[in-house]
Amino acid sequence: MVDVNARIRLTGGSDFWHTPAVPEAGVPELMWTDGPHGVRKQTGSSDHVGINDSEPATCFPPAVGLASSWNPDALTEVGVALGEECRALGVGVLLGPGMNIKRSPLCGRNFEYFSEDPLVAGELASALVKGIQSQGIGTSVKHFAVNNQETDRMRRDSQVDERTLREIYLRGFGRVVLSAQPWTIMCSYNKVNGTFASENHWLLTEVLRDEWGFEGVVVSDWGAVWDRVRALKAGLDLEMPANQTHAEGVQAALASGDIDEAAIDQAFGRVEAIVKRAAASLEGAPDGFDVDAHHELARRVARECIVLLSNDGVLPLAPEVKVAVVGEFARTPRYQGAGSSRVNPTRLDNALDAIREVVGHDVPFAPGFTTAAGQELPATALEDAIAVARDADVVLAFLGLGENHESEGYDRDNADLPAEQLALLDDILAVNPNVVVVLSNGSSVLLPFADRVRAVVEGWLLGQGGGQAIADVLYGAVNPSGKITETIPHRLQDAPSYLNFPGDATGVRYGEGLFVGYRGYDASGTDVAFPFGHGLSYTSFAYSDLSVTAVDGGVRVALTVANTGDRAGREVVQVYASIGASKVTRVPRELKGFASVTLEPGASAAVEVFVPSSELAYWSVVDHAWVVEGGEYTFEVGSSSRDLRASGTVAVAGDEPFRPLTLSSTVAEGMAVPAFAEVVTNLAGGIFSGDPDLMRMMESMPLAALVGFSGQRQSDFEALLDRLNATRA
Ligand code: BGC
Repeated sequence: MVDVNARIRLTGGSDFWHTPAVPEAGVPELMWTDGPHGVRKQTGSSDHVGINDSEPATCFPPAVGLASSWNPDALTEVGVALGEECRALGVGVLLGPGMNIKRSPLCGRNFEYFSEDPLVAGELASALVKGIQSQGIGTSVKHFAVNNQETDRMRRDSQVDERTLREIYLRGFGRVVLSAQPWTIMCSYNKVNGTFASENHWLLTEVLRDEWGFEGVVVSDWGAVWDRVRALKAGLDLEMPANQTHAEGVQAALASGDIDEAAIDQAFGRVEAIVKRAAASLEGAPDGFDVDAHHELARRVARECIVLLSNDGVLPLAPEVKVAVVGEFARTPRYQGAGSSRVNPTRLDNALDAIREVVGHDVPFAPGFTTAAGQELPATALEDAIAVARDADVVLAFLGLGENHESEGYDRDNADLPAEQLALLDDILAVNPNVVVVLSNGSSVLLPFADRVRAVVEGWLLGQGGGQAIADVLYGAVNPSGKITETIPHRLQDAPSYLNFPGDATGVRYGEGLFVGYRGYDASGTDVAFPFGHGLSYTSFAYSDLSVTAVDGGVRVALTVANTGDRAGREVVQVYASIGASKVTRVPRELKGFASVTLEPGASAAVEVFVPSSELAYWSVVDHAWVVEGGEYTFEVGSSSRDLRASGTVAVAGDEPFRPLTLSSTVAEGMAVPAFAEVVTNLAGGIFSGDPDLMRMMESMPLAALVGFSGQRQSDFEALLDRLNATRA
């Protein structure tokens, strides 16, 4: 048996990015590094906030971009390439993907997350994990859990009710564990309902392992452990980065009997297994990767990530249209987020060069504004921009958020584009109404000008191939097919989380509950700028022949989608479900599945989405379990959450546990049981005469109150309930 101090050593890092070698156990040193959209291998000074440089690696679109593709196959392909690059660079575990729910547009790290919807986040994260792990490289799904803001991220208490926690904030993580079994999961910095994630036994052991069957390693976010002893007891296996004091703390706790050796062995064994597995894949790995092929892949995927938010027909542009390009982002792309995920790209496309190449000649350009703090512009910058705009047929205005506007580590305090850019846009519109806005931003921005410009192209952050991809979409070499995975509101105040974000030292209360993103906007009937799931195409699609059928294990949703325009295109079909009458609070509709179909002009195809019954379950806070409520469900299919093209209903059998009637049950609950209704009607004489108004007044009364009204003794009444329950059970 390996010495216990050696075993303790493997419960922590040896430095910033490595787990230590334990030669006695045949465990080699292993590098773990960011992630998620490229490999950030630092060989010089180490940091986890994106300061120091790293080895060149392909910068794929960050999660915000990838998510807009709604294309799991594309994410798996990216994952495979990431795995190959890890092998070539000697990295055993890539620290990603991040998959926290986008609760507020203000979260500084939204660019690293997929969606406001747990199904989208879970499906896409699974696809990426499968791709990376297919190469024998580990992933670290993060940040587990309820880490939906950067403000005070290392201390804040996320206070979420049980059902919301399960249905919104944990559901995506559960999906990844069940479908892709990530090798590691990274616990978040924050507290979850009063206990730090790193010390949360319920989260790290009861839910993650006992319920979901997670078999891998729980690694801490960098610096998330306050006390390694408490963390190990809760189910954490590996503290990163190295912390000698904490390692000594474990030795002392072992000596004093505060921790069992078994807890250390368990963590050691898990880390040992993952490290050996990754090390075996690294053995004999090639020492390079196909830089060109991966750059091409980055471009190809970026093309599917671009979302055409609006277009009056000005796009796609013909090459002969006289364009002017305004905005520094066209020349100096904003293509990834700031912080620990920053990748040093192998090369970098920019849209300006790509546009010039497509049209075959120079096009006038004016930067108009700077994109980074400290940059200087000539005094004539504004006039130059207006001058090029005035002369053009169409102005391509590249606007967005600079790295100084959004980043890991802090949240934004507004959702606007920088004021100078909005002012520039006004000035341009004053001389030329034919403006197409192309956006580069990691989190959504308000678009008050959307109706005043001829098209808005949401480019999010697209990685190193994004510049070319943008030009391809603008000129129609590529038909846009991305759709937003987060609602873009008219006003920040409309966001369901608005009043409860980012909280204060007492914690952040997730007061909107289940009503996150489109669930909330739909429930309050709030008009939005662009709804969840929205994205236009240069062609059009018709939906027909919807059938919704109960089949073994779930519901089969089938339809025909036809390309009714004159260009080939890809449509992402979304399936939403709702239940008519429910015993519990419900949101108006929830995404339950999606599928893409690529069609030539005039062609049509059958699309089928299977929704397992388990997807229809809600989390019951009575049973502390998932429950499918029996009843009639409506399935809506659409091109976005607010462009629903057809709907159908189907009866679904529930699996609700037997609920005995008790004195706390209500009259309505009692009357739903025929035998009870019969007995009680006789007992209470006139009160239950069947008068609907009277019944309505009585419905919510607990049966305990009925005891007095019926002139019964409580014990007789309880005996009656027992008898009835016995016949029902
Ligand atoms: C981030 C993680 C990252 C880690 C290592 C932390 O600050 O939250 O996402 O993987 O640093 O860089």
